[in-house]
Amino acid sequence: MPTLIGITAGRIKDSSAIIRVALIDKYISAIQNAGGIPLILPSGTRAQELGLLFEKFDGFLLTGGGDIATERFGGEPNPKVYDIDPDRDELEIGLALMASKMNKPLLGICRGHQVINVALGGTLYTDITSQRPNALRHDWFPDIPRDYEAHSIKVSHGSLLENILSTNELQVNSLHHQGIKQLAADLTPTAFAPDGIIEAVEVIEHRFFMGVQWHPEWMLARDDMTNLFRTFVSTTNDGKQLEK
Ligand code: MN
Repeated sequence: MPTLIGITAGRIKDSSAIIRVALIDKYISAIQNAGGIPLILPSGTRAQELGLLFEKFDGFLLTGGGDIATERFGGEPNPKVYDIDPDRDELEIGLALMASKMNKPLLGICRGHQVINVALGGTLYTDITSQRPNALRHDWFPDIPRDYEAHSIKVSHGSLLENILSTNELQVNSLHHQGIKQLAADLTPTAFAPDGIIEAVEVIEHRFFMGVQWHPEWMLARDDMTNLFRTFVSTTNDGKQLEK
């Protein structure tokens, strides 16, 4: 059975004000290498089509990108908030809510990790540096190699993530300036940076519902990161489609 993975994409406006659907191609190869067929879900997908779309896919990958609209979670306004796209928020929050309810596999990366938390009722630091002055630096972008191993994380014992990565401590890249503040009630934090920032979340009783704050798609030379995508894609095809 081919495994169809819906991958959300953002929008960028170029110098002549033309708007393009945009997605870094690493996500595509990460899903292909893991045995899935990637299909891009554009920002601007109509809300009334979400239910139908949801049925057509075996799993969803919520990708990195700009910030979620601050009003979505009652966050503190911050001048560093960038690239708000309300249509993308709508699409991704809708998918996250449906996937959590319907036990459909979903992986959120960076922005996607934050979307999961906001969808389920959590909040974000709208800028970690401003609101957590003692935190480590997490915003190693834009002019730094995207696979730069910025900080370590500790992975919780007994989590699916521990099982996938086969370790409890590892180095990750870090290309985010926001982070989880109040964790949504249904989420379990499964990895932390040394400063306490939540770097991974799971819904424990779900087949595969996970957010990671780092960018594994830029570290596909590493077995632990390819195993994350492989486990995600193979879970979409394990024949269990249960309603919670
Ligand atoms: Mn980080």
